[in-house]
Amino acid sequence: MNTNKVSNRESAGLHLKSGNRLGKYRQSLSIVPEQRFANADKMLAAMIKTLPKSQQKALKVTEQKESDWHKVRREAFVKRYGRLFNAIFRCVDCDEPIAETMQMCPWCGSEKNRFDTRSQFTHICPRCHKGVLLEWRFCPWCYGLGLKSPSSIRSAGVYCHTLCKYCNGKLMRFMRYCPWCHRKVRQPWRIRPFPEICGRCGWSTDSDFWSYCPWCKQGLRQ
Ligand SMILES: [Zn+2]
Ligand SMILES: [Zn+2]
Ligand SMILES: [Zn+2]
Ligand SMILES: [Zn+2]
Repeated sequence: MNTNKVSNRESAGLHLKSGNRLGKYRQSLSIVPEQRFANADKMLAAMIKTLPKSQQKALKVTEQKESDWHKVRREAFVKRYGRLFNAIFRCVDCDEPIAETMQMCPWCGSEKNRFDTRSQFTHICPRCHKGVLLEWRFCPWCYGLGLKSPSSIRSAGVYCHTLCKYCNGKLMRFMRYCPWCHRKVRQPWRIRPFPEICGRCGWSTDSDFWSYCPWCKQGLRQ
């Protein structure tokens, strides 16, 4: 996944240097995925650079309005859903709010977010780069191998939203696997005030804000 995105970006870079406008259009129409731009924003940005300065200026005003709208949308999202996530981060690719529990950025589909240096937890799973607690026996986000010698200490301030059906261990919202017994969490996370349920995984989503299901990566606007 990641290598694909990197190669997209590299090929976009190569085209930029040679760049006339026709070249950009050709690149955007290319049927070879690697030769296309990584996303519509990048394509637009590359095309704008080929325009005369006066036209670039006029477009800047539109861009400003666009970023104001993004800000309003972001604030509305955080106001509505912020409390459901223990911590909100920004996506490294699109800057929109994401949570550590997500499998991909639901706004832009990026899978490049890592939490090694910004996790809300004390330790990091080496497999999925998400935070874990020392006492957990398994990573609840990626079904990785068991964590080494789980601590008997219980971290303070950890939220318990439900109990594991199998082992009665405490589960946090949006966990995929039980960190105590490793079993898949059977009950889908359906949480208010999310208005929709993903048709694929059955967890809560909101396609007013998101383009992808953050839990199973399904596109929400097909
Ligand atoms: Zn994103
Ligand atoms: Zn993991
Ligand atoms: Zn369990
Ligand atoms: Zn889903």
